[in-house]
Amino acid sequence: MSNEFNVEAKEIIQTENWTPENIIKLLSLPMEDAREILYPAAKEIKEKFVGKKVYFRGLVELSNICAKDCYYCGIRKGNSKLERYTIADEDVLAAVKFAHQNNYASVVIQAGEIASPAFTQKIEELLKKIHAETKGQLHVTLSLGEQSLETYQRWFDAGAHRYLLRIETSNKELYKTIHPQDDTHNFDRRVECLHFLKKVGYQMGSGIMVGFPGQSLEDIANDILFLQKIDIDMCGLGPYIEHEDTPLFERRTELLPLQERFDLTLKTIAILRLMMKDINIASATALQAIDPAGREKALGWGTNVIMPNLTPTEFREGYKLYDNKPCLDEDRTKCQKCLEGRIVMYGHEVGYGEWGDSQHYKKKR
Ligand code: SF4
Repeated sequence: MSNEFNVEAKEIIQTENWTPENIIKLLSLPMEDAREILYPAAKEIKEKFVGKKVYFRGLVELSNICAKDCYYCGIRKGNSKLERYTIADEDVLAAVKFAHQNNYASVVIQAGEIASPAFTQKIEELLKKIHAETKGQLHVTLSLGEQSLETYQRWFDAGAHRYLLRIETSNKELYKTIHPQDDTHNFDRRVECLHFLKKVGYQMGSGIMVGFPGQSLEDIANDILFLQKIDIDMCGLGPYIEHEDTPLFERRTELLPLQERFDLTLKTIAILRLMMKDINIASATALQAIDPAGREKALGWGTNVIMPNLTPTEFREGYKLYDNKPCLDEDRTKCQKCLEGRIVMYGHEVGYGEWGDSQHYKKKR
């Protein structure tokens, strides 16, 4: 890339002139230039605004039962090859106890999307049990899809603090190409849910998939601007990885090579960090599916949260949202040691015993 282009890239960062055209220019930087320009800028901003600590969110994949049929997702309702499971409350509590005893300070409860009175009640009771088990010392993030305002409120009142609902793409037309055309896969409804979450008072998180078929750099630039506009407190964004038992797999010939999707994700993270300096950004597990040290490498580009998997190993195979999902058979203790070692190797430290709430959220309160 020409020197002139690199001077322009540096100027965009310095002046914070975040137009779609300028973001596309940064996303288009060849990786070696991105390493020289984007990486140090994002690293500096991250360290200044959120520090060098990495916060663990112990991940419990509660159930792979889902009422929806997103074309990219391995646990979609239409995947008949999958054996469905729901982890019993005692096993969830054992995972929570492990997190608490090991000073993780936070867990994430994630599952396919079910919107029913019974499910609402089940989660509400589970939250109360988690609260009782840990004397309210553990913060809980939920990632359970689109729900009514009342349900979000009930779960918040029962002790949930944060909620992650990825928009996946902010382009309504593109959204339609990766979801069935029916009432349960409605873009506007998803955006409405993000507003509900803010209204209730959650630390609200969203995010996107990077590099799925049909997505352009312009789409990614608009996605980043969308995340800024809805004023997220946290972000989970990762590379799209195809799953062979999904409809989107048929379009795999349109995809960028995995390494390029990985690189594009790192650039997207860096730009988001430059634009939203004090939010929490998670290193998505999908990064590790491409590069064994993918999550730790992303720390330098702007992430500050990692989600060690606490799901009992016998269920992990059943929660494959995409192919090549890593750590399917590593137990919790091994996972923690291995992760901690790598985090330190990449110049960071684990924020044990700290909630690691979004600074962005705290400043608004
Ligand atoms: S992406 Fe979420 S809502 Fe869609 S099928 Fe997968 S688990 Fe269900």
